[in-house]
Amino acid sequence: MLTFVWKIFAMTKNIRVRFAPSPTGPLHMGGVRTALFNYLFARKNNGTMILRIEDTDQNRFVDGAEEYIKKSLAWTGIKIDEGVDNKGNFGPYRQSERKEIYQKYIQQLLDNGKAYYAFDTPDELDKIRKEYENRKDVFMYNSTTRNRLNNSLNLTKQEVEKKIKSGEKYVIRFKIPENKIIKLKDIIRGEMEVNSNTLDDKVLMKSDGLPTYHLANIVDDHLMEISHVIRGEEWLPSLPLHYLLYDAFGWQKPEFAHLPLILKPVGKGKLSKRDGAKFGFPVFPMEWKDENSGEIYAGYKEEGYFPESFVNILALLGWNPGTDKEVFSMNELIVAFDLTKVNKSGAKFDPEKAKWFQHQHLQRKSTDELLELFVPILEEKTGKKPNTKDLDYTRKVIELLKERATFVKDFWELGQFFYQAPETYDKKAMKKAWKENTAELMKEVVKLLENINDFEAKNIKEKLSEWINNREIGFGKVMQPLRLALVGSLKGPDLFEIMEMLGKTEVLKRIERLIINA
Ligand code: GLU
Repeated sequence: MLTFVWKIFAMTKNIRVRFAPSPTGPLHMGGVRTALFNYLFARKNNGTMILRIEDTDQNRFVDGAEEYIKKSLAWTGIKIDEGVDNKGNFGPYRQSERKEIYQKYIQQLLDNGKAYYAFDTPDELDKIRKEYENRKDVFMYNSTTRNRLNNSLNLTKQEVEKKIKSGEKYVIRFKIPENKIIKLKDIIRGEMEVNSNTLDDKVLMKSDGLPTYHLANIVDDHLMEISHVIRGEEWLPSLPLHYLLYDAFGWQKPEFAHLPLILKPVGKGKLSKRDGAKFGFPVFPMEWKDENSGEIYAGYKEEGYFPESFVNILALLGWNPGTDKEVFSMNELIVAFDLTKVNKSGAKFDPEKAKWFQHQHLQRKSTDELLELFVPILEEKTGKKPNTKDLDYTRKVIELLKERATFVKDFWELGQFFYQAPETYDKKAMKKAWKENTAELMKEVVKLLENINDFEAKNIKEKLSEWINNREIGFGKVMQPLRLALVGSLKGPDLFEIMEMLGKTEVLKRIERLIINA
């Protein structure tokens, strides 16, 4: 029922969503998931996806972060309709370019008595805070204290003007209404109530003349006609303040949806950037080098994940279609996605499951798609450009190994022996497979193989099996050392297929080589 009502509502409203990252560092996978859920929601409802850069916090600005965000979104396949680098009628889309706009709106709040100038210095506030702490109390700048503090509520207009003229530093605070029940609504979490007395008179304009996140965010969401604010759970505590701000301006509120946290694979808490190195998986879409510490954080892209796998991993962190289906392309997700079905509780990240998604998406790719991706690796490893014959050969390699491969680079890891004779032999396997009479047996196998003219898997299998049966020896006694000779270990796909691929001359060469080296 809820879904039905929701759909009707969504159809009648112009859907506009925004992803609004702050360029304070690389985009964590949780951030990309927020962008993705916005994107899926927009596409599903024929809406508009906006990218807004929230860069009003100069202290936390990191060079290159905006570029990184845009590149990561592009790699992931999240397309932006309006934003910093795209056309749109609601720009500029970078908050640092919208200073005058915020000035105008803060003035409106000042004029209406909804905001006020506060001249308390950080030192003064610290001192008061400590006094409260000593009394085992918590200081709040709100209706209980504001009348005793150094702000325009307790000064005459002339005094305020004088202070400002003389260059005294000030911030502008929001005057939180006293003892008001704020009724909140969230698409994922339902209805909540908060008493305004639990809130601080938040700073809306800092002493550097720039707005804080709260003011800029509300003004922009309103002016950009955002219909749905879809963002991380960490912003839920700000929601009551945001409601009050909308009311103070007399604006209609957008709908809100706060996405669940992504949790660590083991233990408690939010997935952090340090967890990547700790548990051995990437936390970022693309590699990021921290210019200050020189640390390099691994990226899904560089680790060999396909963008579609990454998208699939993210989509199922906190959402599921309510069926058994787990593997989705972006288009399939757009069809299946339902914001009302997003979970409230945190989603534990499982690195093994992430790999599973990558494996599934690799299985979905055609041989030719995989060939195109594998050729650069092959060229680098062999130092030669493959010709048409080599490409046909590699197609077969891919087909034989696909089921076992998770990443494109696995075709080399698992199939190097298709291109180069093994230089070393797995010691444990050697011990297991090479017995006293093995060399003699192998010499006989060489003779047998020499006489097979039609060197095809089926044929080799028939002849070799017949010989093994006649000699009344165990299959493994022959096949294991043979595999060792051709592959270098006891792993790999069907041995007869391998023999056909390598060809008679190469097969014989490799067996003879192991006989000598064993
Ligand atoms: N700039 C905020 C962030 O970095 C955006 C929060 C929001 O979407 O309202 O997460």
